[in-house]
Amino acid sequence: MTDAILRVQDIRKSFDGNGVLQGVSLDIREGEVVVIVGPSGCGKSTLLRCINGLEAIDSGEIWLRDEKISGQTKNLHLVRQKIGMVFQSYDLFPHMKVMDNLLLGPTKALNRPRQEAEAEALEMLDRVGLKEKAYVFPRTLSGGQKQRVALVRAMLMKPEILLLDEITAALDPEMVSEVLNVVIDLANSGMTMAIVTHEMRFAEAVADRVVFIEDGLIVEEAPPEVFFHAPSTERAQRFLQSFTYTSRRRP
Ligand code: ADP
Ligand code: MG
Repeated sequence: MTDAILRVQDIRKSFDGNGVLQGVSLDIREGEVVVIVGPSGCGKSTLLRCINGLEAIDSGEIWLRDEKISGQTKNLHLVRQKIGMVFQSYDLFPHMKVMDNLLLGPTKALNRPRQEAEAEALEMLDRVGLKEKAYVFPRTLSGGQKQRVALVRAMLMKPEILLLDEITAALDPEMVSEVLNVVIDLANSGMTMAIVTHEMRFAEAVADRVVFIEDGLIVEEAPPEVFFHAPSTERAQRFLQSFTYTSRRRP
């Protein structure tokens, strides 16, 4: 496949002799949304962290378009600019207003004129329903609002691909959908994404492809309608069953 934006080839990563990624290969095409699911501890976060260079891999290769990005140390900051990432915990700077948080990357790392970046930031805040929060401090925002700001901040860097690691895991339930709907909006606008989530209905709604990882290996890969309704491996079936409840007996 030559049209892959991101190519992960047989990567391995161990922590203290513990093989967390044991030969993972994954191609992501332009505009594609890949959802990565799997039991806790299977290596999902490690995979995303290796992709954007927060962890060094032990072997294998990672390519972003025609540039090999694994093994680099010199241009790591440039690579990171092209790969956006949002985590579970919103890491906005508390002493800076929302707008200053948003403009830090575009003005410092991309050298964009502040006015121009600010106009774009306002437009994007408006798109996620937060225009009126542009000049407040993060502490006045709800968790869901902070995550929407975090998504805007990542998008303002104009990444080639966006990596999302359980971005709603720390939110109260009523705030989950307001954040995930922004992600679906991004998907509709053509953003290439790799998304780790435990929200299975969201995963089914947003994914072009689902990748199921267990023990550091891709066990199954399928379109969402197949993965969620007729997974072929017993391990994926067991994983999906873990999201259902047994029925209660009532007299
Ligand atoms: P997931 O995101 O799928 O829950 P992780 O990728 O966070 O899983 O972790 C996979 C395994 O790697 C876990 O056993 C975890 O304890 C271990 N691990 C992750 N990061 C580190 C680290 N920096 N040092 C040591 N072990 C780690
Ligand atoms: Mg994780």
